[in-house]
Amino acid sequence: MAAAIITGSARGIGAAIALRLAKDGYDIALNDISEAMFENNSIMEDIRALGVQCEKYIADVSDHQQCSDMVKAVKERFGSIDVLVNNAGITRDGLLARMSEENFDLVIAVNQKSVFNMTKFAGSVMMKQRSGRIINLSSVAGLYGNAGQMNYSASKAAIIGMTKTTAKELGSRGITCNAVAPGFISTPMTDKLSDEVKNSILSMIAMKRYGEVNEIAGVVSFLASPDASYVTGQIIEISGGLSM
Ligand code: NAP
Repeated sequence: MAAAIITGSARGIGAAIALRLAKDGYDIALNDISEAMFENNSIMEDIRALGVQCEKYIADVSDHQQCSDMVKAVKERFGSIDVLVNNAGITRDGLLARMSEENFDLVIAVNQKSVFNMTKFAGSVMMKQRSGRIINLSSVAGLYGNAGQMNYSASKAAIIGMTKTTAKELGSRGITCNAVAPGFISTPMTDKLSDEVKNSILSMIAMKRYGEVNEIAGVVSFLASPDASYVTGQIIEISGGLSM
């Protein structure tokens, strides 16, 4: 059986991706930063009910050593790592003049360095297998910028460069690397926005609605599937027509 690891997958888009890849038949390695994220949450049971194996790994993906240890543990448990989804991400928004150095560095560490950490260690396993799929979560903020998100848009733009670099470095080993760039998706991350901001965003979306987590998970499932075997280094925007 093939195995997939999804970072930041206790809730939100990551949990939806984990559930979808389980439906596709993958054994699932869940990850989140704290055990508390899995409390009051049935994600592990929901995945196991689909007849695949599922374990959770508590690790901070901005920490190089914790990523190394987690990848080693997942490889030992499942025997292979066939799909890596770099999903964990945070926001610490604020206009540039008021953004603290601490909040800039934290967002870069969690959103961007984590992709370096996980791709390095899981990519090494995939290189030995001579196969693998890596799917990164970028954002429309990385493609177009967004006022109040200097830190977040920097991290998500960096992921685009990292995706293309990974595709070029690992392609000859049968590994693909692509990114999805979601627009505004209903999750705890976007629930925090004020009604005023939410309404102004809706006016810019051709489809006049927010996206659902399953609409991200479906594209990730495609990128992990045999149908996407010759797709690499691509950034797929999933935004309901935000940018036209
Ligand atoms: P979410 O609901 O906040 O889920 C992200 C998960 O990652 C949380 O459980 C979070 O835990 C966890 N996490 C945070 N820091 C971590 C760390 N250092 N190590 C391991 N796990 C960590 O976010 P989401 O909306 O599902 O977003 C998922 C991804 O999609 C992110 O990369 C985000 O940037 C991207 N995205 C989202 C949207 C959107 O509209 N929602 C749009 C574009 C892109 P804590 O809650 O404890 O921090």
